[in-house]
Amino acid sequence: MAIPESIDTSVTFEEARTTIPDLTSKLSDAYYNATISYFNRLTDEVWIFGVKPDDGPVSFVPGQYTSLGLGYWEPRIDDAIESDIDTQWSKLARRSYSVSSPMFTSDDYHADHGVADLARCEDLDDIEIYAVLVSPDGDFVPGLTPRLAMKNVGDRLFMGRKMAGRYDATAVDDPTAPLVFLSTGTGEAPQMAMIVELLRTGHTGPIVSVVTARHWSDLVYVDKNRALEKRFDNYTYLPIPTREPDVEKRYIQDVVRNDFTADKLGFELDPTNTHVFVCGNPDMIGLPDESGDQPVFPTTLGVSEILVERGFKLDKRKDPGNIHFEEFW
Ligand SMILES: Cc1cc2nc3c(=O)[nH]c(=O)nc-3n(C[C@H](O)[C@H](O)[C@H](O)COP(=O)(O)OP(=O)(O)OC[C@H]3O[C@@H](n4cnc5c(N)ncnc54)[C@H](O)[C@@H]3O)c2cc1C
Repeated sequence: MAIPESIDTSVTFEEARTTIPDLTSKLSDAYYNATISYFNRLTDEVWIFGVKPDDGPVSFVPGQYTSLGLGYWEPRIDDAIESDIDTQWSKLARRSYSVSSPMFTSDDYHADHGVADLARCEDLDDIEIYAVLVSPDGDFVPGLTPRLAMKNVGDRLFMGRKMAGRYDATAVDDPTAPLVFLSTGTGEAPQMAMIVELLRTGHTGPIVSVVTARHWSDLVYVDKNRALEKRFDNYTYLPIPTREPDVEKRYIQDVVRNDFTADKLGFELDPTNTHVFVCGNPDMIGLPDESGDQPVFPTTLGVSEILVERGFKLDKRKDPGNIHFEEFW
């Protein structure tokens, strides 16, 4: 990832842009190692796209994340300008992205092919990413997604060669265990990767996935999840838009508190055998501050506090528990 010597990175961005020939292609050649293989713009702000690394597939455990990057020299969809662009323009804006799942390898996924056409992560040449556009807000200028918004099939980008994270389903050692997946927005990405793998490998215990997003159009995996539900009696998908006029506004915390009864859920939310996977907005997850003697939960009630009150335990590196979580910011 060496920048060609012909590029003087000490000059301002404006000077570089106007005086260095082929600046963009020189920097792209130096940094980028992957290609966008498909780009589905579900809305202007919500995208599912594939990333194909030049050096072949990178192995990962479903639930893990990679890093993607685009140069600060790239154009943005908005007219915001980073205040430090003159020192940053030759660098990459790099961010973490959970690997999602295309779920099925065939297009006629509403036909019941059992597990035969469920996507197997080891077999995929490209990884699927589910991302949303983050907009500037006052002094805050997001680095990557306004540049991703300009991209299309065939465009190049940087992808980290190492998958990371311990948010995965390896703790599930009982194929009959009840599993609950809770996510906001793009937090659904790692859930899909895990759920598909669990069903593909014969998990028979009940699996419930609750997902909230603002609008129906933001809930991009509904159709495929309905197909999954039809195939697997043990799978239930509950998508909840929070800003649709005809749908009661409910947050995941409301669902966990009010609807996670044996009657409504179909099984007991029993901390002795159930694993819960929570991903996305940190306010929804609501992790406690552990800097003092006792953990202090945030004033905004999160799912962690509700579950801990019901006997669940946060999963930590050296202290395993049954609430597995991934905060996206
Ligand atoms: C482990 C991990 C996995 C992640 N996986 C994904 C993923 O699969 N898909 C994805 O879209 N993002 C994911 N993110 C967030 C991602 O890394 C970027 O922060 C996000 O895409 C915005 O990038 P940006 O440079 O445009 O804005 P940044 O400069 O990164 O701005 C960060 C701010 O943007 C907002 N924000 C960040 N992510 C989101 C989001 N997903 N939805 C709504 N608002 C957000 C928050 O206000 C946050 O403070 C993940 C983050 C982590 C730590």
